[in-house]
Amino acid sequence: MAEQRDLFKDIISHAKEYGFVFQSSEIYDGLSSVYDYGQNGVELKKNIREYWWKSMVQMHENIVGLDAAIFMHPTVWKASGHVDAFNDPLIDNKDSKKRYRADVLIEDHIAKIEAKIEKEVEKSRARFGESFDETMYRSTNPRVMENQKKIDDINTRFKKALEENNLDDVKQIIIDLEIVCPISGTRNWTDVRQFNLMFSTSIGSVSEEANTIYLRPETAQGIFVNFLNVKKTGRMKIPFGIAQTGKAFRNEIVARQFIFRMREFEQMEMQFFIRPGTEEKWYSFWKEQRIKWHQALGISEKKYRFHDHLKLAHYAKAACDIEFEFPFGFKELEGIHSRSDFDLSSHGKFSGKKLQYFDPELNESYVPYVIETSIGLDRMFLAVFSSSLKTEKLEDGSERTVLSLPPCLSPVKVVVLPLLNKDGLPEKGMEIFNQLKTSHLCHYEEKDTIGKRYRRHDAIGTPFCITIDHQTLQDDTVTIRERDTMKQERIAVSEVLKIVSEKVNMNRVLEKIV
Ligand code: ATP
Repeated sequence: MAEQRDLFKDIISHAKEYGFVFQSSEIYDGLSSVYDYGQNGVELKKNIREYWWKSMVQMHENIVGLDAAIFMHPTVWKASGHVDAFNDPLIDNKDSKKRYRADVLIEDHIAKIEAKIEKEVEKSRARFGESFDETMYRSTNPRVMENQKKIDDINTRFKKALEENNLDDVKQIIIDLEIVCPISGTRNWTDVRQFNLMFSTSIGSVSEEANTIYLRPETAQGIFVNFLNVKKTGRMKIPFGIAQTGKAFRNEIVARQFIFRMREFEQMEMQFFIRPGTEEKWYSFWKEQRIKWHQALGISEKKYRFHDHLKLAHYAKAACDIEFEFPFGFKELEGIHSRSDFDLSSHGKFSGKKLQYFDPELNESYVPYVIETSIGLDRMFLAVFSSSLKTEKLEDGSERTVLSLPPCLSPVKVVVLPLLNKDGLPEKGMEIFNQLKTSHLCHYEEKDTIGKRYRRHDAIGTPFCITIDHQTLQDDTVTIRERDTMKQERIAVSEVLKIVSEKVNMNRVLEKIV
């Protein structure tokens, strides 16, 4: 646990030190759970967004993009259910005065039991080696079975309490499980209350009730209210999708996990409109597509898992999360939801407009069903960043910190480094920089020893360093150093662009998803 915390601390300080993520308004002591992206962070974020956008909009002939406004008509949030039901159950510890999400306290307790099971399984795997049968072990080992039963019982009871909106029982579960406040260590809890997560503000000059509007808590509703516009102007035929990326705002109760849970964050969402009755097929299709999208980046497959939702919204047919193993354990990274016709029907009712589709094959009109994929860009940033940051022991006994980002996501693709700041080497360096800059984000650096410059670029994940020395002036060759292997090779200047372009080409990753 302490190790986990240290690792997470290291990640946060690395993100700051190397210009990826800063606390918002830091000179005024910061604003809680709001963050700014620095010179390298903005590039990594942009590249992740581009990877998502291309995989959705460019690679599907039937998906188009949208950029809806953050402010929307207040009735949108009535129709979507957010005004009445976008709540989190909160609970306070009376001694520490700290506020928690009741559901998160219970989920964390379950995660601890899961960790015990995993430890047991790993121990036995190490003992039995290749002959180890994990499924058999899990279904026969008494300790594992006992712990699994504990988890199942908590889940059943918790699910029932949520479904019945029985907040007293949610509190009772916390008490029965003897969950303590991590700060005070006591079980002195308040009752559980519901708390609406939407930020409101007023539009216009007078702040009357009627002028209250909300900062959108998700981007999806901008897609639903534009369904007719896009369908008509894009001449879309079902099945089709609308994709959007943009800011969303939630007044999160517990927001202590860096960019995992922010009050202002960015989402990448796609709503896929389908014929009713085909939802199972498309739900499976998008589950498979989305996990492929993650795995194509080359991050260890073990870090991902699906988690089916315990509590389904009344309209939902099915819902799952893709969870990622963050430094603080497996947590939701992306949601995939089969939403029936709930959203379009509800907006149809509230607006009085017919949000329908005429299906020429069936010769009838219907309200399409929807499969949604929804991922937080900032969470994806944290997933990629945290799993790429490594400390390596080198042969000479020293250590290096390297951010082994997938090269297509790296903020800087290549850096040009004149060995010395004289003898015409900087001029030659600038000449090479100028040849590369139209194709890639390229840096040019003269300051510090070459070793220090290499380390700096290892730490921000730059895939290639190009070094210019006196030989370059004679035979037009440079040394190219690759980030992960640290291998250095002498190549012709004319080859640099080709080598770099091939390695950082996002298309090579996208090809794995097809
Ligand atoms: P959680 O249970 O963690 O609060 P959620 O189930 O409310 O998340 P959704 O409403 O399904 O999340 O939102 C879709 C995605 O948006 C999430 O999978 C997550 O990646 C991202 N997201 C949601 N809330 C936040 C937040 N406060 N900060 C950063 N990303 C968020």
